[in-house]
Amino acid sequence: MKNGATEAQVRAVIDEIERMGYRGVPMPGAQRTAVCIIGNQQPVDGSTLLAMDGVKETIPVTKPYKLVSRETRPDSTVVIVGDVKIGAGEPVIMAGPCAVESEEQALTIARLVKGSGAKLYRGGAFKPRTSPYSFQGLGLDGLRILDRVRKETGLLIVTEATDSEHLKAVEEYADIVQIGARNMQNYSLLRLVGHISKPVLLKRGFAATVDELLMAAEYIVAEGNSRIILCERGIRTFSDNTRNTLDLGAIPAIKQLSHLPIIVDPSHAAGRRDLVIPLSRGAIAAGADGLIVEVHHDPAHALSDGAQSLYPAQFDELMKDIARLRQYLARS
Ligand code: PEP
Ligand code: MN
Repeated sequence: MKNGATEAQVRAVIDEIERMGYRGVPMPGAQRTAVCIIGNQQPVDGSTLLAMDGVKETIPVTKPYKLVSRETRPDSTVVIVGDVKIGAGEPVIMAGPCAVESEEQALTIARLVKGSGAKLYRGGAFKPRTSPYSFQGLGLDGLRILDRVRKETGLLIVTEATDSEHLKAVEEYADIVQIGARNMQNYSLLRLVGHISKPVLLKRGFAATVDELLMAAEYIVAEGNSRIILCERGIRTFSDNTRNTLDLGAIPAIKQLSHLPIIVDPSHAAGRRDLVIPLSRGAIAAGADGLIVEVHHDPAHALSDGAQSLYPAQFDELMKDIARLRQYLARS
């Protein structure tokens, strides 16, 4: 639409698109609104639309993921949650244990990461574990502990929903609902989080291409939830030196292809504590909008992912590193 097109003109265009048998989705930008046509199998003849009041141009979108594509929306999306803005320039750091183990454990770590400057607290209440015999998370009790963490520290909460059965509860307690790597292509779950009231942290599957990640995000936006944060967390390659291989190139590539913010999880990428800080630095330098990092005060006794969890003092160093790196990047 033209700069200054009225709401009525946008509405009329959507009505016309619906009359043509498709869906029209308005996407307001900083300067002007785009109306995205979805549901067409073939190119659409835009001549009727072009003749309508307020219409500036019609742009054929070449990507199969239309709503999340930068072709459709040149302005970057900023996801706002509480007083935190993700994708607005300042990297947002989320930190905490892999899993909530007890109230004491969760609060101890929360106070420490908050002291170092984390804005969000991570911690799984429902854990997707490779082995059925591993600790599966505290479930609803874990969510209640996360609620205590928020109340005591003011940290916002990001936690995973592993299935539709517990999605409502997770939605209620979380500030951001995480969809894990294993569920990136669980299309029925993606559709459901398209209807929740909270932003979604969508992690890249460890065998998923960038296009597949963006198509997964498209599922969520197509259902109506456009508050999505993508997350690169390492993919499986022949390299067996690390748990996964962090795909740093995906960050600038996704920035070109999509308007959605993207953060990096260096912990699940590395699988080992000694690589988490270098990978974090690389991620910030490559333009990531934030990090989600595992931290534990007693990693030797952690119930999951202790080997990749930073000690609180290391996390504090990392936060100082990021501040220095940001200054350097701003200068250069
Ligand atoms: C997690 O962040 O807790 C997690 C399980 O990560 P991923 O889904 O990336 O394996
Ligand atoms: Mn973990």
